[in-house]
Amino acid sequence: MVIGGGFAGLSTALAFGRLHPRPPIVLIEPRERFVFVPLLYELMSGELKGWEVAPDYASLLQGRGISHLQDSVSSIDLNARSVTTSSGQALRYSQLVLATGAQPEDFGIPGVRENALNFHTLSDLQPLQERLQELRRRPSGTSSLVIAGAGATGVELACKLVDLLNGAAAVHLVELGDQILPRSRAFNREQAEKALHKRGVSVHLKTKVESVSSTSVQLSGPQGPWEQKHDGLVWTAGSRPTLPDILPSVELHKGRLPVTEALRLQGHPDVLALGDIAVNPDGDELSSWPHSAQAAIQQGQFAAKELQAKLRQSDSSPFVFKDLGEMLSLGIGDASITGLGLTLAGPLAFKLRRLTYLTRLPGLSLGLRAAGAWLVSP
Ligand SMILES: Cc1cc2nc3c(=O)[nH]c(=O)nc-3n(C[C@H](O)[C@H](O)[C@H](O)COP(=O)(O)OP(=O)(O)OC[C@H]3O[C@@H](n4cnc5c(N)ncnc54)[C@H](O)[C@@H]3O)c2cc1C
Repeated sequence: MVIGGGFAGLSTALAFGRLHPRPPIVLIEPRERFVFVPLLYELMSGELKGWEVAPDYASLLQGRGISHLQDSVSSIDLNARSVTTSSGQALRYSQLVLATGAQPEDFGIPGVRENALNFHTLSDLQPLQERLQELRRRPSGTSSLVIAGAGATGVELACKLVDLLNGAAAVHLVELGDQILPRSRAFNREQAEKALHKRGVSVHLKTKVESVSSTSVQLSGPQGPWEQKHDGLVWTAGSRPTLPDILPSVELHKGRLPVTEALRLQGHPDVLALGDIAVNPDGDELSSWPHSAQAAIQQGQFAAKELQAKLRQSDSSPFVFKDLGEMLSLGIGDASITGLGLTLAGPLAFKLRRLTYLTRLPGLSLGLRAAGAWLVSP
């Protein structure tokens, strides 16, 4: 049984589904569509279409012998090896793959939950697009948009929003740390700094969001406390795992489920925990894997092999993350890539990033269809 049909869960189900003979697979996922979130920026800007970025599970799973139960798991009983769903179904499992991903974290900062927009999934697009439309109707130079958090999502979003606003509003990027993209490669950070500068984004480093109201944000920075009026604030400053109730309760490590080197939940060898919810408690910064789609896909593929090893009663091997590099979207038609044996920025990087992601879409035939649609589109 696989809980969560995101990058890790769907990759597990698809890879395990290719094995014969194998036990039946049930994928429990409340959404109708899988969302390829690294391309959410392009969906927002209209550079890509919904069917390219968010294919439905029915077509992804068709003919693969995987049952999709469109429901969400509310609790897991590890001793009874059973799960209960929101609709009240109780299901038993022999092996469980838990991959329920993450959601935005507001760290308890007053007003964030009530007043901030998010950029995390498909349902976040419409409110943001409506706000952009409203800003474009106002006289230019009168509005401000604030993005909190200068990690990859904040930086990529800032560049794309400036291009879409076309001067209709000033864009501010607020970051608690002393640099943007703290976890990125130097080349990508430099390209991102250039892209932000070129677009006139005001970057406020070492600046903390203290509280947010519907029209302003209270900040404290190197010059002390100050207020920034806003006509929209997008929160990209943190995330936390989305976990169903687990009984008996599991002690979290840094807020995530601790797993063995074979991605088994510590103390519970029948459960694999993958993707954004999991952490290797013994790994240091270097040997640990990042919380990214890239790592989640590799973990899903590893989990399928691990399940097969269990069926054959053979030994587990450790999961080893293979770093394939980093690609950033830096506005309409612009990107930066470090990896794949190259460093590249500009329109060619944009095309390569899009093609790479489209061909990485789960279910190769869809990926190729999508890539084909892009290659022939003007
Ligand atoms: C805007 C944005 C851009 C990103 N860009 C990149 C990028 O360029 N490169 C990169 O490597 N990473 C990127 N990431 C990070 C990447 O998307 C995540 O690390 C990745 O999705 C984690 O995979 P996952 O399988 O753990 O979780 P997810 O992909 O989030 O999947 C979790 C799934 O579980 C389901 N679920 C949740 N709760 C339950 C429940 N109780 N029962 C059943 N199902 C449930 C959800 O509906 C969801 O489908 C980006 C993230 C964002 C938000």
